[in-house]
Amino acid sequence: MRILVFAERNTGLAELCNGARNLGTQVEAIVIGSQDVSINADKIYAIPAQNNVMFEDYADSIAAIIDKSEAELLLVEPTKRCKLIAGRLAAMRGTSVITDIIEITANLETKRMVYGGTAIRKEKAVGGTMFAMVSAGTLISCADTAVQGTVEAAAYIEPASKIKVVSTTQKPKVTVNLPCAKRVIGVGRGIANEKDLEMVRQLAEVVGGEIGCTRPISEAEKWLPTETYIGVSGLMLVPEVYIAIGISGQIQHTVGINRSKVVIAINKDKNAPIFKQADYGIVGDLYKVVPALIKGLKQ
Ligand SMILES: Cc1cc2nc3c(=O)[nH]c(=O)nc-3n(C[C@H](O)[C@H](O)[C@H](O)COP(=O)(O)OP(=O)(O)OC[C@H]3O[C@@H](n4cnc5c(N)ncnc54)[C@H](O)[C@@H]3O)c2cc1C
Repeated sequence: MRILVFAERNTGLAELCNGARNLGTQVEAIVIGSQDVSINADKIYAIPAQNNVMFEDYADSIAAIIDKSEAELLLVEPTKRCKLIAGRLAAMRGTSVITDIIEITANLETKRMVYGGTAIRKEKAVGGTMFAMVSAGTLISCADTAVQGTVEAAAYIEPASKIKVVSTTQKPKVTVNLPCAKRVIGVGRGIANEKDLEMVRQLAEVVGGEIGCTRPISEAEKWLPTETYIGVSGLMLVPEVYIAIGISGQIQHTVGINRSKVVIAINKDKNAPIFKQADYGIVGDLYKVVPALIKGLKQ
C-alpha cells in the first residue's frame, strides 16, 4: 500500500513516516520548502515555500500530489492547521476526513472514541484516497529511522481564492515532545496556584520526565500550553510511567493515558476515579507528597 504523509512540524513528519512503515510498503512524504530532518520515506515531494502564503493555501498543491501519487491513504498530522488543510483536501474530493483515530489496521479499518470516550466507533473509507488523522501517540514509533528517499520537486499551485495575510505574531514555542516522552507527569486542578508548578518541575527533573496537564489547567487557567493537555480532545499518550498529580480521573482525561505502562496517582480524595486507573496510588495532600517524593528520589 502506498501512503502519503503530510505534517506541519518536522517531528510530526518523522513520527508519522515511521508509523506509516507498519501499515504500508511505500511511504511518501510531502514537505513545504526544504526539509531538514531525516525521515523514513521512500519519496519526498517538495513544494517550494512561498512568501506570505498561509499554510492552508498549499491545499491545491497537495491535492495535485495526491492525484499523481495515487496513494490509498493520506496521513495528516493532528495539528489545528493540518486539520484545516485536510478538511479542504477532502472537500475537493467530495469526501470527509476520519479524525482522532486511535487504531488503524493495514486494511485501513479505523477506530475512534465517541461520546467523550465512552464508546468506540469503527470506520472505513469507501473508495479513493482515505484522508486520515491519527491521534498523537497512536501510530508513532519514536525510533529515529531514516531512509535516503528520492526528492521530487512539486509545483506550487495558487488557489483560486487566497487568504490575505494582514499581520503575523510570534507564538511561544512548545519544546516538549510529550508523545515520545517515556515519563510524563500530569498536573490537574489539585494544584492551587500557578507558582506551585515549580514543585512539579522539580519532580519532573528528578524523574527525567515531561509535564502535561488536564484540560482545565491549560484551557481555563492557562498555566500550561494548550498543546500539552492530555485526553480525548488533547494528546493520547503511551508513556512507560504516568504520574497523575491532583487529577480526578474523568474519562475525558484518562482515555489519553490508559495505554501507559504504569500509572501512579496522587490525590487527597481516596474515592477519586483516577485510583481505578492507577497501578500505584498515594492518598494524600500533594503539597506534602510531592516534596517528600522529590526529597526521597534525590536521596
Ligand atoms: C467534551 C469534553 C471534552 C473534554 N476533554 C478533555 C481532555 O481532553 N482532557 C482533560 O483533561 N479534560 C477534558 N475534559 C474535562 C474533563 O471532563 C474534566 O473536567 C477534567 O479532566 C478535570 O480536570 P482535573 O482532574 O484537573 O480537575 P478536577 O476534576 O477538579 O480534579 C481535581 C482533583 O484534585 C484533587 N485535589 C485537590 N486538591 C488536592 C491536594 N491538595 N492534594 C491532592 N489532590 C488534590 C481533588 O480531590 C480532585 O480529584 C473534557 C470535558 C468535556 C465535556
